[in-house]
Amino acid sequence: MGMTTVATQPVRQPQDHIEADAPWQGPHVASARADEQKIEDIYGRDVFSDRVMRQRLPREVYEAVKRTAERGKPLDQSIADTVANAMKEWAIENGATHYTHWFHPLTGLTAEKHDSFVVPDGTGGAVVEFSGDQLIQGEPDASSFPSGGIRTTFEARGYTAWDATSPVFLNRGRNNVTLCIPTAFVSWTGEALDMKTPLLRSMDAISKQALRVLRALGEHDHVKRVFTTLGVEQEYFLVDRNFFFQRPDLMVCGRTLVGAKPPKDQQLEDHYFGSIPSRVLAFMAELDLELYALGIPVRTRHNEVAPGQYEIASMFEAANIAADHQMLVMEKIERVAPRFGLRALLHEKPFAGVNGSGKHNNWSLMTDAGDNLLNPRDEVHTNVVFLTFLCAVLRAIDLYADLLRASIANAGNAHRLGANEAPPAIVSIFLGDMLTDIIEQLEQGSLTSTQQAGAIDLGARSLPQISAHTGDRNRTSPFAFTGNRFEFRAVGSSAAVAWPNTILNIIVADSLDWIATRLEADLAKNATVEERCKAAHAILHEIVKTHKRIIFNGDNYSQDWIEEAKKRGLPHLKYAIDALPVLKEKRIVDVFNRAGVLNPAEVRSRFAIFIDTYNTQLSIEAATLVNLSRQLILPAALRHQLQVGEAIAAAQSAGVDCEDQRHMLEDIVDLITRFRGTIDALKRALAHPSEDAEAKAHHFEDVVKPAMGDVRELADELELLVASDLWPLPTYRELLFVK
Ligand code: ADP
Ligand code: MG
Repeated sequence: MGMTTVATQPVRQPQDHIEADAPWQGPHVASARADEQKIEDIYGRDVFSDRVMRQRLPREVYEAVKRTAERGKPLDQSIADTVANAMKEWAIENGATHYTHWFHPLTGLTAEKHDSFVVPDGTGGAVVEFSGDQLIQGEPDASSFPSGGIRTTFEARGYTAWDATSPVFLNRGRNNVTLCIPTAFVSWTGEALDMKTPLLRSMDAISKQALRVLRALGEHDHVKRVFTTLGVEQEYFLVDRNFFFQRPDLMVCGRTLVGAKPPKDQQLEDHYFGSIPSRVLAFMAELDLELYALGIPVRTRHNEVAPGQYEIASMFEAANIAADHQMLVMEKIERVAPRFGLRALLHEKPFAGVNGSGKHNNWSLMTDAGDNLLNPRDEVHTNVVFLTFLCAVLRAIDLYADLLRASIANAGNAHRLGANEAPPAIVSIFLGDMLTDIIEQLEQGSLTSTQQAGAIDLGARSLPQISAHTGDRNRTSPFAFTGNRFEFRAVGSSAAVAWPNTILNIIVADSLDWIATRLEADLAKNATVEERCKAAHAILHEIVKTHKRIIFNGDNYSQDWIEEAKKRGLPHLKYAIDALPVLKEKRIVDVFNRAGVLNPAEVRSRFAIFIDTYNTQLSIEAATLVNLSRQLILPAALRHQLQVGEAIAAAQSAGVDCEDQRHMLEDIVDLITRFRGTIDALKRALAHPSEDAEAKAHHFEDVVKPAMGDVRELADELELLVASDLWPLPTYRELLFVK
């Protein structure tokens, strides 16, 4: 839409057309407002929560649902009908007209197909209906979702199945309310076609192995289930909506394909944690309220490093719930922004040369009694549970660094990893001083002490003494221990977190399995606590010796680390296309299979889908770049050439010597000619893709991407040469600085 207007009318909207503090249209009609209600009342308002279920379900029914949620026990028909009926009543009281099975296909997005509650009653009126069957199982015609070869289109059947562990919720729009039922999505042969099913399976796998380890250590015997916990920090950009619609690259690809760097971007470091621009803060406030209504525990909001970049972080929850919530956070960010005249960009690198966006994935293990198994406590050297789980993670990451790398490989993240704001594509673990010391003691075979943190004297009498942590943070590490959890920092901002967490869960489950098997073999049934502890120390000693190379506390951004990692034999899979084929290796297929998380066909399908998505995204980007170069940039450059030419002709006919200005004309003609050459080269590069998906991906990486880079380089030169009133695209200055 914006594109044609812009092409025929290249004069850009004056900047003051969009006042940064212009009054917005007021909060969304359906949304909660802080000034009308207390946040405690808004929180969870749109969730069929435990609290609501207790109120609305007969006791036996409530307990049956809980058993389904906690132990996966199937609900019998009559109970399912009762639950469905209560949900329907609640939804309709809240204005709902439709329900949907809400699922996460392998597109990395969410999917919903709405069905009305309304059924004609045969007398000209209608009744509302929703049965247990409709709650528990759905059968969308699923032939248009990616299956990576698991299913051919003539076998279109797919099933959605209610995931009772994740609460049902209402999605509200301006004039619509829909009851959303979180579901798994599988093929008619039971293969997982989604992100949720493997995550749930992986949580079962890690719980099972963690329990075996705890039993073998003789610790936490009352525990029946171990959960992985997940707290996600989400980075994103906001740009003014009017500029967004003038940029076909942002509209189609979510990132700028051209754009010269402005003289000022983030060099002064004046944006990070800066005072939040008022329009942005208004957006954030409304976003928070909408998320509270859905029971999503968002806690933190702030400016990020790049101008125009922000962050929202939630409190941690069980990983399966957090993963669903994270999808809703992304959706709500995108939906709320336009109400404030903004558009949100979740792409990993919307602006070249400026920091991109990631998603910090804080991960830990917690028992059903609420104990964090990765909490070292004060006397770490005596905490055998912590040490065992820490070493299990160490071993897992060292053995499967390449798989973890592959879990975050996509076309967008490729622009971010190894740039200046994100860890390199080498996976390593940061432990900090105190734990590194403990690890060294383990390696030497005797654990005797824990380094204690001191207090910091601030040097002014009016300021309190503050206590320091036992280790500093490391912002450059892809996988950092941060006190009582690991922070996987290399995940891309647009990613569905279910996938990297599935991988983390299975590789750690695999290590726990290995440790448990060893412990069980070494120990007599009636072994004492001391004997168990001793046996564990022997195994941990061995793990440290074999896997300590994965620990790196230094600067992950430095060139030295790349050399050093190579010496240590750590994989450096620089490009997404190097990383993804890891999924084809037997040892990787086996680790999925052993955990009971994905069978070989399911792993293969993911590889096929990820490669395909990568290729498709790149071909869309390249085609968009060709179009916008020809339809917007070239015409603007020619107008500029014409203007310069006419100015020279006018001067000459008036008898003024303008020899020097002829050079300007020559320069612009030369640049346009070279620019045209790069566009043609890009078109040629696109015309020769191979049929094989992997070969095609290499072609995109090795030939198409550099050709896109050439086009961009000259486009950016033109941007700096062409008269600003003729330039058809909003520039980085406007995109990044109009707040
Ligand atoms: P940072 O200092 O990295 O910016 P924040 O305070 O913004 O950290 O975010 C820390 C994140 O870690 C939050 O999402 C928080 O809920 C999460 N977190 C804290 N404890 C745990 C835990 N035990 N398991 C998983 N996540 C946790
Ligand atoms: Mg963080």
